[in-house]
Amino acid sequence: PLEPFIPRLRAHARARPDAVAVIDGARRLSWAELIDMVDRIAARLAALGLGRGDVVATLGEGSAEHLAVYLGAIAAGACAAPLPSGMRPEVLAAMLENAEARLLFATDAAMAQARAAAGAAPGCADAPVALDALEDWLAGARAQDAPEAPAGLDDPFDMIFSSGTTGVPKGIEHDHKFRLRQLRRMALFGYGPDVVSIASTPLCSNTTLVAALPTLAEGGTLALMRKFDAEGFLRLAQAHRATHAMLVPVQYRRILDAPGFDAADLSSFRVKLSTSAPLPVALKREILARWPGELIEIYGMTEGGLSTILDCRAHPDKLHTVGRPAEGADILIVDEEMRPLPPGEVGEILGRSPMMMTWYRNAPDKTREAIWRSPEGEDWIRTGDMGRLDPDGFLELLDRRKDMIISGGFNVFAADLERELLAHPDVAEAAVIGVPSREWGETPLALVVPRAGARPDPEALREWVNARLGKVQRISKVELRESLPRSEIGKVLKRELRAPYWKEAA
Ligand code: ATP
Ligand code: MG
Repeated sequence: PLEPFIPRLRAHARARPDAVAVIDGARRLSWAELIDMVDRIAARLAALGLGRGDVVATLGEGSAEHLAVYLGAIAAGACAAPLPSGMRPEVLAAMLENAEARLLFATDAAMAQARAAAGAAPGCADAPVALDALEDWLAGARAQDAPEAPAGLDDPFDMIFSSGTTGVPKGIEHDHKFRLRQLRRMALFGYGPDVVSIASTPLCSNTTLVAALPTLAEGGTLALMRKFDAEGFLRLAQAHRATHAMLVPVQYRRILDAPGFDAADLSSFRVKLSTSAPLPVALKREILARWPGELIEIYGMTEGGLSTILDCRAHPDKLHTVGRPAEGADILIVDEEMRPLPPGEVGEILGRSPMMMTWYRNAPDKTREAIWRSPEGEDWIRTGDMGRLDPDGFLELLDRRKDMIISGGFNVFAADLERELLAHPDVAEAAVIGVPSREWGETPLALVVPRAGARPDPEALREWVNARLGKVQRISKVELRESLPRSEIGKVLKRELRAPYWKEAA
């Protein structure tokens, strides 16, 4: 049986009221304080008539109050919808409307944006509640008035937006059983009351929640980093003897490059997780060599439907893969006609798992398009990612289908080219995109960020890497850049990189 989420948190508050639940800058919230706040929020929401079937949205940095409102909405039986920052007010209003959000909470820094969006979204209260003055809103609310167990396994738990790497973020609804099964899977990584786990990506991202929720469910301590910076991470990790962290690949790079890294005592670390974007092989090796503890790579998507796990230390010969399907998950590689392909052949990755989104909220057509029903009547999620399975069942991830380069009729995978570029000592970051070519239709162009202090000659670098590539893969040009455009969670935005080249061609 799946143990309900909020009652588990309340049990920690009863068993270890003074243990630290949340660290937010200089503040500490004990388990008793966190649950008192969560229950008062739930009581207040219930008094406003908000509960089962309603959506409560939040916006802004991941403060203790922000986290408490996310949890309080769930405790009220409602669905929590943390919204991504950095959206234009019209887009944000459309997100609120799509979510059918009834109430929005925002930090002061996000308040102007929140007001504009809430005002424009029908069904949402015009005035957002200030997270930075949450106690004013909570005045008079009593924890004992929180609803008892208002939501069932099939009720919505949260609604999380996809990263928006390929277009406008999609609003993805997860029910309670999705999250509870995910907690069970994450138990593999040793979450427990003695865990101190750092959350350094935005609260609205599934990447953050997938590690934050098990930390809380098991009664550990969650250290929130409102804004990531490498030195700040090292300070936080040492001050609290961090045992766990979920980081995205750019963050690993920046932490390892921080001047304070070698002097930092990171011996408390047990497990570090990485997901959301490719973690280059060389970087995996470097993390294993320089940073104590295990390194686990996870491949998955906000929609759920599949995940693979790679224990990097246990499989040094499989670092070019994202591991094998997690327990209960299944992978199928198919060609363009949706015919299953044998190991070794590249096609679209389909996934199946007991954790699957309810739907893209209020978008049944888009939901149907994302799911493929096999002739046997099984439903598979279409990941939109290309990859191949090796004979041992490890998944090698290539590009997103939308990023694949079709050159002279051949499929060229930027991932293969990027891997070679990253092997060059002067290259810190690399992105390969397809640009128009009269001769080939499309041809690979490499955008390279040199390592600090290095000034590689683009033409020499092009020749160096082309000598290591197959004929159809050859890069037509290398351009040096100071940085690559990235989404809030650190994914390279290839659509932005491509746009100027295709505009010129049109
Ligand atoms: P959108 O769907 O809005 O375009 P997104 O797909 O980036 O954005 P997410 O659900 O956050 O939104 O991310 C899932 C995607 O991230 C996967 O489909 C895959 O392309 C990429 N990804 C996830 N894990 C890994 C990993 N370990 N290595 C490489 N890429 C990964
Ligand atoms: Mg996606």
